[in-house]
Amino acid sequence: MEEEKKTLFVPGQDPNNNLDFSYIKEEIYKPFFTQPDFPSFRFPCPVGLEIKTSTIENIGNGVFTNRDIEEGEIIERVKTLPLADRRRYQHDQVIRDYILPDTCSCKECSVHGPVVRIMMGFGSFYNHQDPPNQNCKWIVSNPFNFLDFVAIKNIKAGEELFVNYGENYFKTRQYKPATVKHA
Ligand SMILES: [Zn+2]
Repeated sequence: MEEEKKTLFVPGQDPNNNLDFSYIKEEIYKPFFTQPDFPSFRFPCPVGLEIKTSTIENIGNGVFTNRDIEEGEIIERVKTLPLADRRRYQHDQVIRDYILPDTCSCKECSVHGPVVRIMMGFGSFYNHQDPPNQNCKWIVSNPFNFLDFVAIKNIKAGEELFVNYGENYFKTRQYKPATVKHA
């Protein structure tokens, strides 16, 4: 039964798509199929998050938690909006810094660039850190247009939340990732 659900979840999708929801602790927030093509999932209410000046100097804002979070907890599940124009047609640098490209190697994507998405909620405010400063990760659901920020370690109240944007983000940019001073 479990196996069947999994194969239903990924048809036609690139194997690089990050659809591994096994990391999520709360069973009720794992997407599942009631019937083919009809996924069922819930959006947990993000609790105890705030946006304020990042611990990374001169970078702007970041997302902080004001409660303790356990490894495997969903910090926030955000809706993503796929833009009408693909990556290759995005010329505004501000947009380019905030969009989330799909990982896809199909022919259409290699010609026109991947489909890109805008993250709702606090999605665009999470800053980047490499391990060991990274404390949460993205779990992307491309077919259903949402994305989970999930804790990959226990996080203390007051800490800033950091995801990893991946190597490609910085490959295409002139600057290197900033490192937090007091990790
Ligand atoms: Zn594609």
